Amino acid sequence: MSADCLFCKIVAGDIPADVVHETETTLAFRDIGPKAPVHVLVIPKEHHADVAALALADAGLAGEVLAAAAAVARSEGLLTDGFRTIFNTGGYGGQEVFHVHAHVVGGAPLGPMLS
Ligand code: 5GP
Repeated sequence: MSADCLFCKIVAGDIPADVVHETETTLAFRDIGPKAPVHVLVIPKEHHADVAALALADAGLAGEVLAAAAAVARSEGLLTDGFRTIFNTGGYGGQEVFHVHAHVVGGAPLGPMLS
């Protein structure tokens, strides 16, 4: 756990979240400012700053985050029409919370990736 990390506080239960999926190593909860009808954040419970750091430190855990993202897509009914999984990384990538998270978004056509 990282003391000043928002998502570590959600993992610890110190900040409430609308949890939709949980495993021993991952947590998935609805984004507080959804950009699509379905917008869920999937995180490893262990603190890693971004996806590059996570993949370097623990590729197995990175795979568990992806598996959790797919499970969320399935449980949210996104598999038929499709969905998007995004890891914003670093300043140019638009990352605002530096605890790695996959955005799982869908429920409506999302348009070209960079629009
Ligand atoms: P980033 O820009 O780092 O990829 O995305 C961070 C996301 O975290 C944003 O989509 C933002 O809406 C979401 N977020 C920020 N604070 C909270 C919070 O306290 N709870 C939840 N559920 N989501 C949050």
